[in-house]
Amino acid sequence: MAIEHGELPGLLDRLSEAFGPQDWWPAETAFEVLVGAVLTQNAAWRNVEQAIARLRARDWLSATAIVNAPADALRECIRPSGYYNVKAQRLTAACETWLELGGEAGLQAMETGAAREALLAVKGLGPESVDDVLLYGFNRPVFVVDAYTRRIFSRVGVVPPDIGYEPLQSAFHAALPRDARRFNEAHALIVALGKDYCRPRSPHCEWCPLQPACAYGGAGVQRS
Ligand code: SF4
Repeated sequence: MAIEHGELPGLLDRLSEAFGPQDWWPAETAFEVLVGAVLTQNAAWRNVEQAIARLRARDWLSATAIVNAPADALRECIRPSGYYNVKAQRLTAACETWLELGGEAGLQAMETGAAREALLAVKGLGPESVDDVLLYGFNRPVFVVDAYTRRIFSRVGVVPPDIGYEPLQSAFHAALPRDARRFNEAHALIVALGKDYCRPRSPHCEWCPLQPACAYGGAGVQRS
C-alpha cells in the first residue's frame, strides 16, 4: 500500500475545524519534558504527574540530583509511574547523557539531527520519547508519532497498518510545513481523536470528523 501523505493536511484540517485549537504548549522545562517522556512509558499521565510531584518535593527535579540520588530512594520516589525499577535505571541513564551533552544549554546548541541521535543512544529512550523532548522541550520541528497516529491514519487508509515509526514520521514531514507549532497542534488533534473516537475497539465512527474520508469507518459499519 502506498503512503498517501498528500491527504494528511486535509484530514488534519477536518480535525482542527471539529475540535478547535488545542494549544498544547507545556509550561515545563525541557528537562521536565525528558523526565515525563521516560516516566510516561506504559503509564497514565496522572500517575506520571504524581511521580514528578514527588521528585519535585524532594528537590530532585534536576539531572544532577537524579544521578546522585540513592537508587532505592529514586525507585520509591517514582513508584506511582509504574515499572519503577526499569524506569529508575532509564531515568538515571537519560540524566547522565543529559549532563554529558551539557544539559539544556548544550542540547539547545546542537543541531536537531545530532541531538536526536545522541538522545536515541540512551537505553530505553525510543524515537517517540526523544521526539517528545525535541518538540515539546526544545521547540524543534520534529513530528511525534504515537499509537494513535498509526491507528487513525491506517484505518483511514492513507498509510499501511504496519508502517514503522520513521516512514510514518517522514510522511508527516513531507505533508506539512516544518513548523514546531504546527506539529504540536497536529499531534494534539490526533490524540484528541484517538482518545475519544478512534479507540482500539468499538471506535465512535458515527461521530468522527474523519468518517466521510475513512476506509474503516466510512461504510458506517461499527466494528469491534
Ligand atoms: S471513522 Fe472510525 S475508524 Fe475512521 S478515523 Fe474515525 S473513529 Fe477511526
